[in-house]
Amino acid sequence: AKQNGRNRFCFYTAEIQAQSVRMLLLENALRRALERGELSLNYQPQFRSDGRCIVGAEVLLRWQHPELGAVSPAEFIPVAESSGLITSIGEWVLRTATQQLRTWLTNGIPVKTLAVNLSAVQFRQPHLADIVAGILSEAGIEAGRLELELTESVASDDPVAAVTAMNELHARGVQLSIDDFGTGYSSLSYLKRFKVYKLKIDRSFIGGVIDSAEDQAIVTAIINLAKGLGMRTIAEGVETEAQAHFLRKRGCDELQGYWLSRPLRADEFAAFVQAHRAM
Ligand code: C2E
Ligand code: CA
Ligand code: CA
Ligand code: CA
Repeated sequence: AKQNGRNRFCFYTAEIQAQSVRMLLLENALRRALERGELSLNYQPQFRSDGRCIVGAEVLLRWQHPELGAVSPAEFIPVAESSGLITSIGEWVLRTATQQLRTWLTNGIPVKTLAVNLSAVQFRQPHLADIVAGILSEAGIEAGRLELELTESVASDDPVAAVTAMNELHARGVQLSIDDFGTGYSSLSYLKRFKVYKLKIDRSFIGGVIDSAEDQAIVTAIINLAKGLGMRTIAEGVETEAQAHFLRKRGCDELQGYWLSRPLRADEFAAFVQAHRAM
């Protein structure tokens, strides 16, 4: 038994070691990803909850490495955060997305808003509002067309600084939404102080909304909470018509998920918007 335990221990440390080797490998590869043009953006349509009208898109980062293949953002974003690379990558995402939006608008493709994910690390950098405003004006995009998706973790270590940063972005006209809402540990009191425009109901609740009374209760409560606070709601990870129907009936404003569309390349997204307009 003792022998066994030691083997397990060895196996465990070997696994941890392999994991940190992978992280180091990714960090080094990520350092060059920008200049080598390995990063690109996908756009996942966001619909009004009647499913008829596309209101915008969420911008999702993709990384295609020549040897490693496609690396999931769920794996490389944490590496980008711990290494500090997220600051330059995040600015690249904002710049590329706003310039893409400019191109679409110039070509007569109607896209109201783009929602861009912002890491808590980026959110902590000083002058964030100035940086964002600079990128918007470079692209010639009004601030109201940009939505920044923040997770509840932005408020966890320095709530006062977070309120200041949010107020600065809000003052510039940028819209803020809370991503993965309901999965964080923060108290709800911050919703009173933050200028939050929209709550994004986490996919984990949407998945159970047909079969689980608990998920139904949670989703209904979030929608009603948002209404009471004058905020909008969007559901992420909508995969079936039944889920969409439930959400619409409860008064959720917008839907996003595979049932409506997967994340698309820029050219596919433009064609998707055009096809929907023709309908
Ligand atoms: P997220 O912000 O919660 O993004 C939604 C994720 O759900 C995306 O995964 C999307 O492809 C996926 N998804 C969309 N619809 C469905 C559906 O109907 N069913 C299921 N099962 N999944 C769906 P993705 O693209 O792999 O991104 C993972 C996470 O990586 C994102 O989660 C976000 O936290 C992060 N991320 C992606 N791009 C960026 C970025 O530019 N900056 C930052 N800071 N984080 C990013
Ligand atoms: Ca998001
Ligand atoms: Ca999310
Ligand atoms: Ca989520």
